[in-house]
Amino acid sequence: MKPILEVKDLNVSFEVYGGEVQAVRGVNFSVGEGEAVAIVGESGSGKSVTAQTIMRLIPTPPGNIKSGSVLFDGQDLLSLSEREMQKVRGNKIGMIFQDPMTSLNPTMTVGAQIIEGLMKHEKLSRSAARTRAIELLSMVGIPNPESRIKQYPHHFSGGMRQRVMIAIALACNPSLLIADEPTTALDVTIQAQILRLMKDLQQKTKTSIILITHDLGIVADVCDRVIVMYAGQIVETGTKWEIFRNPQHPYTKGLLRSLPRLDQRKGEPLVPIFGTPPDLIQPPKGCGFCSRCDEAMRICETDVPAPTSLSDTQTVRCWLQHPLAKSPNMAEGKGASV
Ligand code: SF4
Repeated sequence: MKPILEVKDLNVSFEVYGGEVQAVRGVNFSVGEGEAVAIVGESGSGKSVTAQTIMRLIPTPPGNIKSGSVLFDGQDLLSLSEREMQKVRGNKIGMIFQDPMTSLNPTMTVGAQIIEGLMKHEKLSRSAARTRAIELLSMVGIPNPESRIKQYPHHFSGGMRQRVMIAIALACNPSLLIADEPTTALDVTIQAQILRLMKDLQQKTKTSIILITHDLGIVADVCDRVIVMYAGQIVETGTKWEIFRNPQHPYTKGLLRSLPRLDQRKGEPLVPIFGTPPDLIQPPKGCGFCSRCDEAMRICETDVPAPTSLSDTQTVRCWLQHPLAKSPNMAEGKGASV
C-alpha cells in the first residue's frame, strides 16, 4: 500500500517550569492510502502531540519540534511556512477534535461554517457551496439538512454536532482525516453511531484515517492497523487482528485486560494497569513501562529495548522478544544487547 503519510524519527518536547517534557521520543510510522490507523495510549503517551505535530498545531513556545520529518504526499510538512500549511489544513488533511462545541463557532450557523471552507479551499460560488453543504449534512446523517443548515451549534445534540464536525472535515475531500478522541464526549450509543459513520465514509471516500484514542475497545470496528504508544514512544504496532489476538507488549496486554469482555463472568473485576506513567522531564534510562511491568527484568531498568519485527506488520519494543530474555544473565541485567 502506497504511504500517504510517513512520520520519521519525530521528537517533540515542551518547556515547562520544572524542565523539558520529552512528549514524543523517536516516533516512526506510516499511513497507507485509504488505510485507517488507530493510535492508542493513555493520557500523556504522546498520541495527541503526534497528531498536533502532523497538523503543525503545537504552540511554539512552549512546544518545540526538535527533530524528525512528516512527509505527506512526499512533502515535509515541518518545512512548510504557516501560509503553506494553512492550505494543507482542512483542504488536504481534515481534523476532528474531541469536543465539537469548542471546535464549532457558536456565533455562526453550521451552514455558514461549512460554506466558508468550501468557498475558501474549493473556490466554489456561494450557491454551489450551499448545495454541497446540504449534501454533506445529509451524507453524515443529519435529517432535514435544508432547514438545519440555518441553525446554530447549540441547536444540535452532542452526537449531531460531531456529525457536523465530520461534515466540515470532509468538505474539501481531504486525503487524510485525523480524529483526535472524536467520541470521548459522547455516550456509548452515539459513540458507536459516530464510529460506524466514520468507517462507512472512509470506505466510500477512500480517505485515510488516523484515529487517536485512549480506548482500545473502540478501534476494532474502525481501524485496519493499531499503533500503541506509551511514554512518548511506540511500543507495539500491528494489524488489529495481531494486536487483539496476539498482543506481545505487556502494556498492550494490560490495555486489553482492562477492557470489559463479552464472556466475562458476573462480578469478575476488570484488571487495571497499576502505577502511573513515568515523568517525561527525566524519562527512564531503560524501558518506559518498567516501573509498572510484571515481567520486568534487570536489563529493562538500564537499556532501552529496540523494536523487534514479529511479522511484516507487527513490531514490538520489549526485551522479552530477545532470544535470551528468559536466561538468568538477562534477568539479572547482564544480557547481551540486541
Ligand atoms: Fe516489561 Fe521489560 Fe518489556 Fe519493558 S522491556 S515491557 S519492562 S519486559
